[in-house]
Amino acid sequence: MKNIEIKPWNLAGFDMKKPILIAGPCSAETEQQTLTTAHQLASQGIKLFRAGIWKPRTRPGAFEGVGIAGLPWLQKVKRETGMFVGIEVASAQHVFEALKYGIDLLWVGARTTANPFAVQEIADALRGTDLPVLVKNPVNPDIDLWIGAIERISNAGITQLAAIHRGFSTYAPTEYRNHPQWLIPIELRRRMPQVPIITDPSHISGKRSLIQEVSQQAMDLDFDGLIVETHCQPDDAWSDAKQQLHPDQLKEMLQNLTFRNPHIVNMPRTQLDDLRLQIDDIDNQLIDLLRDRMNISKQIGGYKQQNNITILQSRRYTEIIHDRNTKALRKGLNVDFVSRVFESIHEESVLQQSQIMNQKA
Ligand code: PEP
Ligand code: MN
Repeated sequence: MKNIEIKPWNLAGFDMKKPILIAGPCSAETEQQTLTTAHQLASQGIKLFRAGIWKPRTRPGAFEGVGIAGLPWLQKVKRETGMFVGIEVASAQHVFEALKYGIDLLWVGARTTANPFAVQEIADALRGTDLPVLVKNPVNPDIDLWIGAIERISNAGITQLAAIHRGFSTYAPTEYRNHPQWLIPIELRRRMPQVPIITDPSHISGKRSLIQEVSQQAMDLDFDGLIVETHCQPDDAWSDAKQQLHPDQLKEMLQNLTFRNPHIVNMPRTQLDDLRLQIDDIDNQLIDLLRDRMNISKQIGGYKQQNNITILQSRRYTEIIHDRNTKALRKGLNVDFVSRVFESIHEESVLQQSQIMNQKA
């Protein structure tokens, strides 16, 4: 891999020491909401303010951002608080508008990183400029797509770069909005050690209650900073209301974080640590899958009860065990072990079904 050139961010008076903290609302909604939030954050010493101006929404009809109208509000934030301001850009037009209004830093959103055409368009628009650009991981867990986007921006001559880890979509619902899959940013650090990595606990968590632990995990893994969605009235936010913190909650969260010194207190991370992290991730996924499977068993219980069918149909059970054993053998697993696992799952499933049938009877 080509060694990309990285320089510290050139923001007057801001030094890049860890943890780099970026905070601000998911979206700029009104001038008042933007400025109130900014003043509250500035009074806590936050130096980098984020606000989404154009919002990539999954479904049409949701709030899509105030657009250009919000850019003068951010200029006011700069003037009144002295903070540096950052927005998401998803097209060349966004880059031109951001530059016109003196925005200090830009980030490429997760949906955009997944699209090399869009990233190239942004990179081309950035050519000849000199400001920090942060690249979020793509929505899907593809490290090469993430690295590719960083390389495209770097090839355009941008040297003030960072990556943002915001978690990855999964098909099965998990306790996270976007599964952290820590192994991926760890691998990014291994492949591009000079690129700072900032964790976005807000988009990983999707809810306030997880933000502390996700932020702590990021600090324990020695990542470089946090970008946290913060709003003066989080419950009334026009986007991502469940995951935004009030500036006071941000302050409390930051006070509760333990910062460990990687060189003195922590041993350097070993391959064993990384493998254990991978096991933890897989176990979490197994637990989610078991929960999904038991929920389906309960639905089957309801169906059987309504249609007067017995719970245990021995032919189906024999088929399941035979089918799973054959697959296990093909995948090189110990067949005895796999049949014990499935016997136990089946036993629990029968129990769940009979509970449902007794409830409804
Ligand atoms: C955001 O930061 O507001 C955002 C839209 O995030 P992501 O691109 O990570 O979904
Ligand atoms: Mn958001």
